[in-house]
Amino acid sequence: MVKIAERVQKIMPSGTLGMAQKAKELQSMGRDIISLSLGEPDFSAPENVTAAAIKAINQRQCDHYTMASGLPELRQAICDYHLKKDGLQVEPNNVAVYTGAKFALFTAFQTLVEAGDEVLIPAPYWVSYTEQIALAQGKAVIIETEFEQEFKVTVDLLEQYITDKTKILLLTSPSNPTGTTYSRQELTAIAEWAVEKGIFIISDEIYYELVYDGAESVCVASLSEEIKAQTLVINGLSKSCAMTGWRMGYAIGPAVVIQAMNKLTAHTTSNPTVVSQYAAIEALSDRTLASKQQMKQLFEKRIGLFEPLMNQIPGFKCHKPKGAFYLFVNISQAMNDCNYQTASEFCLDLLEEAGVACVSGDNFGVEGFIRLSCATNEQVLTEAARRMHQFVLSKK
Ligand code: PLP
Repeated sequence: MVKIAERVQKIMPSGTLGMAQKAKELQSMGRDIISLSLGEPDFSAPENVTAAAIKAINQRQCDHYTMASGLPELRQAICDYHLKKDGLQVEPNNVAVYTGAKFALFTAFQTLVEAGDEVLIPAPYWVSYTEQIALAQGKAVIIETEFEQEFKVTVDLLEQYITDKTKILLLTSPSNPTGTTYSRQELTAIAEWAVEKGIFIISDEIYYELVYDGAESVCVASLSEEIKAQTLVINGLSKSCAMTGWRMGYAIGPAVVIQAMNKLTAHTTSNPTVVSQYAAIEALSDRTLASKQQMKQLFEKRIGLFEPLMNQIPGFKCHKPKGAFYLFVNISQAMNDCNYQTASEFCLDLLEEAGVACVSGDNFGVEGFIRLSCATNEQVLTEAARRMHQFVLSKK
């Protein structure tokens, strides 16, 4: 039997995909399962976007390779979108398009991280960061945050974690899994500190458009020219346009960084799939604004419904997220009351006995929490809350 390379043996399977898989298995056995485990909008991509893709196929525009960084007109569309949305001034040579934001991040870590380099990551963090950094032989330095402070990092906290090996600070606002969304002022203070310390910022802004309750979408690179010169922004269309299957992500950064990343792309995917690139041009246009707004309003409504229901369950507490579409619920009291040592055991029983799938916090670097996705309709969320409430009461 061929031996699997150690670097792959060492990485963890994706916890979010693992739980979704378990839920699907039970469903296929005829069980009535509500899955709140996956991080993907339940909407379809906007119709003007799919129509643009079909047109591009029919006009034979999708049959050949593009530049490694993507179609120039798509990179221009990304520049135009950001200029309009947050005043960020960049040129197409500051932009590269990828097969999803996930692959943009992978390419960034491969391009920037050398063996032993330290990357600061506030916990709770998205599942793939630590594994991608490990694959680049870097060291993920996890910053512990407090539930009471909405899991936010501050300059004082960051100061405690830097060493002479710190190379990158990874920021995710709005956050998956917590929905924590930093204000412009908070991000400016953190980014200015990073610039002063010579730490490069990777800002994962995949949930950038999905902000609620008066929170603002902030693109870190737009905060100042100095910050822009030290920042790589990661974004994409998966969440804002319900286009997870189209695999369209992008990176915006200093031209030298983008050029180096392009060199790597030329040896990996060559370029992202062309039909998706044409779809992305349309998705970034003003013609998609109404659909995006509609999806965002639905997410906001669902969160408004689900958050109070979760806080009514004995031993559960969570903040109302200001961004993304997840609730990150502190269940430590309920675990205590119901005799669970770990949130992952709680999740397994919740799935088996109540038919609700969610993801335990250890997948995001913290114990005593569960992540629930609001990417399903209000009726289903209400039923999920009822089952969860019942489950906790039955265990006490
Ligand atoms: N970054 C975060 C924080 C995410 O939650 C996700 C998807 O769940 C991604 C990146 C990857 O998005 P994409 O579908 O564009 O690869």
